[in-house]
Amino acid sequence: VARVCNEKWVVGCVKRLGNLKHLALDLDGTLYLGGRLFEWTVPFLETLARAGIGRTYFTNNSSKSTKQYVARLNELGIEAAARDVYSSTTSTIEFLNDEYAGARRLFVLGTPALREEFSQAGFESVEDPTAGTRAAAGGGEPDVVVVGFDTTLSYDRVCRAAWWISKGKPFIATHCDRVCPTDLPTILPDCAAICAMLTSATGREPDAVLGKPNPRMLGGLMKRHGLAAKELGVVGDRLYTDIAMAHGAGAMGILVLSGETTASQAALARPGADLVVRDVGELGRLIVREREALLV
Ligand SMILES: [Mg+2]
Repeated sequence: VARVCNEKWVVGCVKRLGNLKHLALDLDGTLYLGGRLFEWTVPFLETLARAGIGRTYFTNNSSKSTKQYVARLNELGIEAAARDVYSSTTSTIEFLNDEYAGARRLFVLGTPALREEFSQAGFESVEDPTAGTRAAAGGGEPDVVVVGFDTTLSYDRVCRAAWWISKGKPFIATHCDRVCPTDLPTILPDCAAICAMLTSATGREPDAVLGKPNPRMLGGLMKRHGLAAKELGVVGDRLYTDIAMAHGAGAMGILVLSGETTASQAALARPGADLVVRDVGELGRLIVREREALLV
């Protein structure tokens, strides 16, 4: 049974499923939890394929590259190619191309995978000029500083990022997560925590924060697939990222209760999700029901 936050939306919400041409699917808490794929995920994806609804896998985690995400999804038994993955890195690359058109040289405070992804997108990664060769070759000054979820964080590189930020270079964060969820007995400081350290050292806040819930993330996807907002749904387990992004872009926000958010939090949220379901298995059943109703 579908649970809906605001009773007066019950009909409207389920009916909106009939308009959907594409779903932006969150990963952790939505399709799997930690390393465990939900048993209903693959049947749900098959339902989407049969219903002719496209899907893109959405992630804020900029520590891994698109290639690594494709490999991880395939390993879990989920079919995916590079164009099916949309990460905060993808959104940051599109943002830089749109808003800082002349900028090609970046200081990227991020993992080697993140730096590699920027270089594949045509950006040059500027390394520490005090380290030698590049400075000697006459350059080393970046156009923009990009900060991601750097699981390989080194103090020297933090110092360089702070230096360029203090010199007024645009300070761009790939996403706003403070910590990365984990089931291990540890805390994984994420992009926002690293940015907070730079803010504390320089007095500057990031000039832009991409990733969820920034609706730009959906704008790029709509452009890629030629979609109108009402044809796009976002499925995720977090109100303040997944659902907030859907609302910001005018897309349908579908909350699953298989991850972080509890049923009572979902019911209390204002504004809430357009539709609340237990998991994507239930969403698949509702989509089938709605399509059949349209055919009658
Ligand atoms: Mg999630």
